[in-house]
Amino acid sequence: MVIAERPDVADPTVRPAADVAAALGVDASVGLSAAEAMARLVADGPNELRSKPPVPLWRKVLGEFKDPLVYLLLAAIVISLAAWVGEGMNGVPVDAIVIALIVLANAVIGLVQEARAADAVAALASMTAPVSSVLRDGRLAVVASRELVRGDVLNLTEGDSVGADARIVSATGLRVQEASLTGESDTTPKSCDVLPGPVAIGDRRNMVHRGTGVVQGVGRAVVTSTGMDTEMGAIAGLLDRTESEPSPLQLEIAKVSKALGLAVIGIALVVMAAIAAISGVQDAQDLVTILLMGVSLAVAAVPEGLPAILSLVLALGVRSMARRNAVMKNLHSVETLGSASVIGSDKTGTLTRNEMTLRTVMTPSGMVELSGVGYRPEGEVRVEPDGAATPADVLREASGVLVAGSLANNAQLVEEGGEWSIQGDPTEAAFLVGLGKLEGAAARVARYERVGEVPFTSQRKLMSVLGHDVEEGEDRLFVKCAPDVLLTRCTSVLVADGIVPLDEHHRRGMLDSVEKLSAEAFRTLGVAYRAVPPGSVADALDETAESELVLLGVVGIFDPPREEVRVAVAEAHRAGIRTVVITGDHPATALRIATDVGIVDPGARALTGLEIDELTDDQLAAVVDDVSVYARVAPEHKLRIVDALQHHGNVVAMTGDGVNDAPALKSADIGIAMGITGTEVTKEAATMILGDDNYATIVDAVRRGRVIFDNITKFLRYLLSSNLGEVATVFFGVVLAGVLGLEDASEPGTIVLPLLATQILWINLVTDSAPALAMGVDPEIDDVMARRPRRPTDRILDRAMWTRIGFIGIVMATVTLLSIDMFLPGGIIAGSDSLEVARTAGFTTLVLAQLFNAFNSRSDRTSGLRNLFTNRWLWAAVLLAVALQIAVVHLPFLQVAFGTASLDPAHWAVCVALASIVLWLEELMKLVRRVSDRRRRAAVHGS
Ligand code: ADP
Ligand code: MG
Repeated sequence: MVIAERPDVADPTVRPAADVAAALGVDASVGLSAAEAMARLVADGPNELRSKPPVPLWRKVLGEFKDPLVYLLLAAIVISLAAWVGEGMNGVPVDAIVIALIVLANAVIGLVQEARAADAVAALASMTAPVSSVLRDGRLAVVASRELVRGDVLNLTEGDSVGADARIVSATGLRVQEASLTGESDTTPKSCDVLPGPVAIGDRRNMVHRGTGVVQGVGRAVVTSTGMDTEMGAIAGLLDRTESEPSPLQLEIAKVSKALGLAVIGIALVVMAAIAAISGVQDAQDLVTILLMGVSLAVAAVPEGLPAILSLVLALGVRSMARRNAVMKNLHSVETLGSASVIGSDKTGTLTRNEMTLRTVMTPSGMVELSGVGYRPEGEVRVEPDGAATPADVLREASGVLVAGSLANNAQLVEEGGEWSIQGDPTEAAFLVGLGKLEGAAARVARYERVGEVPFTSQRKLMSVLGHDVEEGEDRLFVKCAPDVLLTRCTSVLVADGIVPLDEHHRRGMLDSVEKLSAEAFRTLGVAYRAVPPGSVADALDETAESELVLLGVVGIFDPPREEVRVAVAEAHRAGIRTVVITGDHPATALRIATDVGIVDPGARALTGLEIDELTDDQLAAVVDDVSVYARVAPEHKLRIVDALQHHGNVVAMTGDGVNDAPALKSADIGIAMGITGTEVTKEAATMILGDDNYATIVDAVRRGRVIFDNITKFLRYLLSSNLGEVATVFFGVVLAGVLGLEDASEPGTIVLPLLATQILWINLVTDSAPALAMGVDPEIDDVMARRPRRPTDRILDRAMWTRIGFIGIVMATVTLLSIDMFLPGGIIAGSDSLEVARTAGFTTLVLAQLFNAFNSRSDRTSGLRNLFTNRWLWAAVLLAVALQIAVVHLPFLQVAFGTASLDPAHWAVCVALASIVLWLEELMKLVRRVSDRRRRAAVHGS
């Protein structure tokens, strides 16, 4: 039975929340039991948007044969069988059987590759799967959002993404961003009130919907529908969202495959026509031979396996990146990552360690310095009074600052077995640690009971807590805030002898302290308070309460840069990638950290959020190229900075953690969500999730992205030159048959094929996919970070690459035909072997030449003999291919199947020597390229 179809919950908005919960069979204060949730999950299916059923295995198997070329081959097999039957079924139809087996083997390889790629993608998907916090069995639990069921009680807090449609049962200050569903960019307030009648989605104030994000406040809601029954599901059903657009690389490869396919089929037709014209077609057997040859050539030389290898290589690369804390949500984003030209990074936690130590307290009467390391609340206290003030005054003021800062606080300090650690925001925890270092201060905090809170947002840069003093019976609002913002809300200041009006002198003094601390890389926070008449604001505590405050002082919190960041910034710079810092922190702090890690030189300037507000989009675009530090910015500035950078053709990678960062992350070419401090909403908007929040990991990921891209280039180079070698061998073998002596000895004047159909298919099977895949996981050969970022419009197969591919292909064909000619009587070099032996030698030379070429293809500059043994997969693939080639040449049953004959050691030696020419010639070309590179660089430096 399906509960949602009961009429009484059909419109949960017009019924009281308790009724809706009851109809869904759940007590909203306890939640479902684990067993009930499981039962409902089984009954209703997972909470997923899926508009298409999964493809069953038999369809996948069939899909492997769904290729016009394979149809051709199958047709050729049928024709050859027909000819065999027509000629009285003499012996076994070897060719037909062998080709059928090869087609089968190819299909199996394709299936395995696709399955492995799908596995890797599924593993990634589960790593980045959204989660929801729900109430089950009376306790809060985090479950994968796909496991949500109707009746589940969602526990919503800021930054959560809503996993299903749900009726709100309680809410405090809850605001939800629903743009993805309604297009409305303003946030919507939510409450549990019953609506008078049915309304449009955008007005369902007592519902939250799948795919929206909680921007503020907290709440609970009972899930009313999941999966395709949600409003999002209704949209997903309309536009099939599972179908993603092909990436530029996919498009290019598809285009190349198609063009090559047509070219190869054209050549095959020409070859077939040429043979038919020169030798004439005497009988059905001749026709079948020519036909099989042409079709096999087309099948072998068309790179139809490319897309499968491409996705497998991307999947393997992305999996290895995930192991190093950079989780990509989409395989093809790796391409974009490799071409990033600007990294926009947060400061706190990304460039710095987010280990906050409160070192300095500045008060109206002087300064207190606290020593000590880590989170242990112990350390020396050094007091430095100003002018006439006494140390006792300064200490009392400093203690007031830390008390207020510790009350306007949500962090916790935990001691376990002598080890101190924190929970919550490190900035806030720093106050608790500092408080412990001042004698007697902790007792003053203990007097307060928390009444309410106005939460921190990065727009406001401010948070306050209302406390009730149980001893004195007074209420006080404690405020903690960016000092420059705080000053605008203070009207007086607490000095030793009491509260005095905040005059220009105090203001100046505070701002100077802030400047001084910031310039030393301290994160500064101001602290203030206000006495509140009991009961006056407790019910409706909001931002309006945070005015006419009494300033207490400013603290300096030290957060050291991560050691590895300096190196990473330099590495990014070497790779032509600019790093910019975007932070809510003070400009001087931001500049100092940016200078310390090498992002800017001393004396650089920062642009603040206020300044950005003054600029038009065009004006902003005009300055973004010169500014690398953005300070005191709010998330909406981030979006503008991304757009301005993109305006200059930059490929922008941008980090973010808060809900409000989501639009900037979506707009960036690569949105990077923080894995540790990031919210669910940011993670959903991002293309990459940073497991350790570390800037250095981004740069490492860019490097890996470039290596993966390089590896794709390697196997393209390999596969395309090999295929070209095969085509050129057959083409020139037929065209130059007379010159080479490729004649039927018994019937002079009729030419014979340089390679048999089955041999060509064998080459395709043995030398293509395994070495290509091994190249896909090749380690870094060329220094990828020495290059400038690839422009997204650059083609991977440019003219230079085609020239090299063409060159190798021609060399391969030449050595292959040469080895045939050498052993055959007549031709340029007269030999004395049979056609079978000569052809086997050519066949072997071509296979070996392709294997030598595997080592060429790893770079177009670096010698193939360097890093020779760094890829064991490549060696495994090559050795396997050699073993198989020995088998096909020497095992009698394979000789029958592939028309080969045994070679003696002298033959083998010739084959190896000729095949290796491919390697030596390319080594020579690489040397020439390296020398001319060096010349060019020298010329650039010299001028
Ligand atoms: P970022 O993460 O880029 O360092 P934030 O948006 O977290 O920037 O912080 C911006 C400013 O807001 C900080 O410089 C600090 O002055 C203030 N701030 C940060 N955290 C808190 C907090 N928990 N309470 C009050 N003010 C804060
Ligand atoms: Mg922050």
